[in-house]
Amino acid sequence: MMDGAGSVDRRRFIKGAATGALASAVPGAMRAQDHNHEHQAVPSDPALRTKALESLLVEKGLVDPAALDALVDAFENKIGPRNGARVVARAWSDTAYKKRLLEDGGAAVEEMGFPGMHGEHVVVVENTAKVHNLVVCTLCSCYPWPLLGLPPVWYKSAPYRSRAVIDPRGVLREFGLDVADDVEIRIWDSTAEIRYLVLPERPAGTEKMSQEELAGLVTRDSMVGVGKVKAA
Ligand code: FE
Repeated sequence: MMDGAGSVDRRRFIKGAATGALASAVPGAMRAQDHNHEHQAVPSDPALRTKALESLLVEKGLVDPAALDALVDAFENKIGPRNGARVVARAWSDTAYKKRLLEDGGAAVEEMGFPGMHGEHVVVVENTAKVHNLVVCTLCSCYPWPLLGLPPVWYKSAPYRSRAVIDPRGVLREFGLDVADDVEIRIWDSTAEIRYLVLPERPAGTEKMSQEELAGLVTRDSMVGVGKVKAA
């Protein structure tokens, strides 16, 4: 369950958050020097409190830092995105399920046995050849975590939160995604009440794949709308 590199990254991030060095953790061109709006110099209150609690628990020997890392790794890389991927794979394979998912995301997700959103609604938006959906939380970091796990650092960063709205095509280009001019980009701003999940386009050449094989192709980024699913 432990992932060495992942734990180091998380530790570095916690340290970075404490010194306000969040910008170093976001993709290159989204860094502070490239634009001139205000940045969070001080980490959020919950981030500081979490760090303080973690330090205290570790110091008193009540918590093993390795166990904490394993938990975070599970939410970040194992449980989270895989649930969302299974929802997407089923929607690709089962037309009736896809219809239910787009009409009432919460009910369709619960139908798969995944935990609810704790009072929030999940809305699923479909990418097509003509529409590309992109999810952001401009206010903080709202995210459908029972489906996608913990949000990545860039999702929580001030540059992503502002630039996804101001210059979505530029942001997508930085993620390696060129969206053609004739494709409409729709931005969805997550809130405490509504969390969005992108249903990415099914790649060509996957017609014979099982749901499990399809789920293996679906990435977290494709369900946030900053990536596409590739056939292999
Ligand atoms: Fe938020």
